[in-house]
Amino acid sequence: MQFHILTIFPEMFQGFLNESILKKAQGNGHIQITLHDIREYSKDKHKKVDDTPYGGGAGMLFTPQPLFDCIESVMKLAPKAPVIYLSPRGPRFTQIKAERLNTKFDQYILICGHYEGIDQRVIDALVDFELSIGDYVLSGGEIPAMVFIDVMSRLVPGVLGNEESHKEESFSKKLDRKKEYPHYTKPAEFRGMKVPDVLQSGNHAEIEKWRRKHLQ
Ligand code: SAH
Repeated sequence: MQFHILTIFPEMFQGFLNESILKKAQGNGHIQITLHDIREYSKDKHKKVDDTPYGGGAGMLFTPQPLFDCIESVMKLAPKAPVIYLSPRGPRFTQIKAERLNTKFDQYILICGHYEGIDQRVIDALVDFELSIGDYVLSGGEIPAMVFIDVMSRLVPGVLGNEESHKEESFSKKLDRKKEYPHYTKPAEFRGMKVPDVLQSGNHAEIEKWRRKHLQ
């Protein structure tokens, strides 16, 4: 799976991409992530990427030129990728949506906005769809892009060590899209709190029944 991230803050991705599961997934070639600095595409002599909104109001907007040039150049690298603008105005990104996208695409172009957002002409001309990670407003699209990459990467076979672990999980089909049952590990008793007997019984049918009962 390939991700192209368009951002004015590529450094923000360093910790996220260089630790844990995503680091490993890039190392063994399951996923590939390329950062593109929108500012480098600006034709302005000061590499400016923003300006004041027509109609007035607070804040700044990304101007069309750097984004158009950046997106069009990245589209050549990933011709089959949908161009996605992370935006609070978009439809909500959910596990079901992630699974659906996963059946259609294996490349994605992600635009991270800032300020008040981006010029509508970029959306009209080049964006395939918008996605929101929730009903709240962040200061930039970088964290939403990280959320998208993390969720999508876990769907790539081989990225999670144990192939079963993403199948039986909160929101999975296998759990009827419900939230997962509680988990316990050793020791069997900790500060007087005991692990339910049934989970220690070795009786798989009973364990399954207990887990089903404790889905939310
Ligand atoms: N003025 C906009 C908010 C801009 S927030 C509005 O009222 O809708 C700045 C940037 O952060 C956006 O361009 C977007 O890329 C990102 N962003 C903020 N909240 C987000 C969310 N819930 N989901 C996805 N992206 C978000």
